[in-house]
Amino acid sequence: MPNGPVHTAANLGALAGAYLLGTAAGADMTSFMVGGALGTFLITPDLDLSGKVRTNAEKNWGLLGGLWYPLGYFVKHRGITHTFLRGPTLLLIYFSSILLILCAAVYWVMVNSGIHWNIEIPPNALTQFPSVLGGYLLAYWLHLWMDGYSMKDHKRW
Ligand SMILES: [Zn+2]
Repeated sequence: MPNGPVHTAANLGALAGAYLLGTAAGADMTSFMVGGALGTFLITPDLDLSGKVRTNAEKNWGLLGGLWYPLGYFVKHRGITHTFLRGPTLLLIYFSSILLILCAAVYWVMVNSGIHWNIEIPPNALTQFPSVLGGYLLAYWLHLWMDGYSMKDHKRW
């Protein structure tokens, strides 16, 4: 059972390898690396320990680390977040909800304080999504493999 720093080092090694291969093949690896960094530093399977053990990911969230406590309360360690498909789906939905609430809060403050700020979503944001997801899943699955889980185990999907 590798600890946090070992997971981080393994992920960074794999991401560096993917970056070198992709770049050598002429691909723009930026969004893939963004996804990989998300899955290595901010949204990891071990967030199921939130509120019980202060994981690296929770620390990386800083003051916002507590936003993951409800997740840690409802799921057991090495349960659903340590599955290959349901796990990342749950965490990404949870993360999107947090993001939505934060954006709504910021928007509410802006509207009520009269600040006008035009937020522009880059036109290519959606086309980058598969690449971000690819990098994220590489980081996520590597964590599960290192924890000793196999994709052949159908209960782990
Ligand atoms: Zn784990």
